[in-house]
Amino acid sequence: MSQPIPIDPVRRQQVASALRAVLPERCVLSDPEDTRPYECDGLAAYRQLPMVVTLPDSEEQLLAILNICRELKVPIVPRGAGTGLSGGALPIADGVVVSTARLNRIVRVDQYARTAVVQPGVRNLAISEAAAPLGLYYAPDPSSQIACTIGGNVAENSGGVHCLKYGLTVHNVLRVRVATIDGEILELGGDALDAPGLDLLAVFIGSEGMLGIVTEVTVRLVPKPQSARVIMASFGDVVTGGNAVASVIAAGIIPAGLEMMDRTSSRMVEPFVKAGYDIDAAAILLCEADGTAIEVDEEIERMTLVLEAAGAIAISVSQTEAERMKFWSGRKNAFPAAGRISPDYYCMDGTIPRKKLAQVLIGIEAMEVQYGLRCANVFHAGDGNLHPLILFDANQPGEFDRAEAFGADILALCVEVGGTITGEHGVGKEKINSMCIQFSRAELDAFFAVKRAFDVAFLLNPDKAIPTLNRCAEFGKMRVSGGVLPFAELARF
Ligand SMILES: Cc1cc2nc3c(=O)[nH]c(=O)nc-3n(C[C@H](O)[C@H](O)[C@H](O)COP(=O)(O)OP(=O)(O)OC[C@H]3O[C@@H](n4cnc5c(N)ncnc54)[C@H](O)[C@@H]3O)c2cc1C
Repeated sequence: MSQPIPIDPVRRQQVASALRAVLPERCVLSDPEDTRPYECDGLAAYRQLPMVVTLPDSEEQLLAILNICRELKVPIVPRGAGTGLSGGALPIADGVVVSTARLNRIVRVDQYARTAVVQPGVRNLAISEAAAPLGLYYAPDPSSQIACTIGGNVAENSGGVHCLKYGLTVHNVLRVRVATIDGEILELGGDALDAPGLDLLAVFIGSEGMLGIVTEVTVRLVPKPQSARVIMASFGDVVTGGNAVASVIAAGIIPAGLEMMDRTSSRMVEPFVKAGYDIDAAAILLCEADGTAIEVDEEIERMTLVLEAAGAIAISVSQTEAERMKFWSGRKNAFPAAGRISPDYYCMDGTIPRKKLAQVLIGIEAMEVQYGLRCANVFHAGDGNLHPLILFDANQPGEFDRAEAFGADILALCVEVGGTITGEHGVGKEKINSMCIQFSRAELDAFFAVKRAFDVAFLLNPDKAIPTLNRCAEFGKMRVSGGVLPFAELARF
């Protein structure tokens, strides 16, 4: 973690004046008291005051901001709701934050095409609320959906509990409208199932604000299932629980949600939500079925049999919608509940092959001892997407550094077992060193080539998500993983 950099007041004055010349006064913030709320995202350990914040009211204003920043060579950080957990919206000391807070209009909901067209600052949940009268909803449901924006979801390719069955953001977005650093508008994708030309939509989704700024999104809507029920299954050890996840999928079932919480997590949330979690179990699984009442009953029965055969020691099934919501409430509130047992927590996000769940959970237990820090595991088990919450106290000297090293080791373990260093939270600033472990020099070069194709001057969210080779060399000097020094040939310099 680097220290905040002081802002040059002369440069701030120059850039703010240029922006105020084309934008209404209310759309430009430059006083540190006004820009302070933008100094971090959900990764609050990393902070930096931005030089200037802009809040455009329209796409035209957004293009004007991009033109001025390009001419003055000012880096730009796009920002939605700032709920990101990897520092993607972390400001730059000599940069401008472009907030989409005022671009928050639902343009239209089309019940025949089953799509919604929305501006980037619309909240994820607001889309489903607008579609609800038509019996439709937007399926990807990050636990932050009450606050996070669709622009942020596109930039991070966000997931959620129901993405195992319904897909991630990339599977539910048909078209994006993008403002480029050259001040032009691109339309990627289209209203039809497939678009001609290279699939730049897929390139753009998950690009973390580095290729352009999303100004409009067309999302797919799906019919709201008639009913849903959830199983809560307890396991005596995490290995059996982890293997049960693989068994459910191997049985050919795709649950609407398949989530796991270890004992630390259920003990953390139970006093908070009183969901009736089995706090003596080493792990609990929440497995949801949705569809018609007959489909749901049949799938619940099949999943119960698989879970029993896999070693579940107790099983309960929600009998009412209220009970189903109660079972989920603990999972959905797990992150805030961490604040009840620890002054600070550090949320990691890695993905592994499902069959490696048990092995990685045991590895994390060993790291708890090694680093002298507790870790709560609550995650999208069906997707193999881990969310270890490392608990620490930032006021204790050295604890944050230990938490960071613990997190980096978890990500290295994910790569070692054939997984990735991010599932849905993105790389941002936080995991940039871990990219050096995951990718070769040639692969990083290919990423930079894409970046240059969209943004040759590297003004859009620079120094995020893709590490330079020098950075990897620096990191390589510090770290040996599995006996191998990454980028050893560069590490000499
Ligand atoms: C309690 C909690 C629970 C969470 N649960 C989940 C979860 O279940 N699944 C999940 O995937 N994530 C989860 N997250 C992480 C986060 O909510 C998501 O990454 C979300 O998509 C971020 O949206 P945002 O609007 O807050 O974006 P921000 O944090 O503001 O920005 C995120 C990134 O997107 C870029 N960006 C934002 N808007 C635009 C735009 N219009 N054009 C181009 N780039 C843009 C930013 O530059 C940044 O790189 C959780 C976070 C919290 C705090």
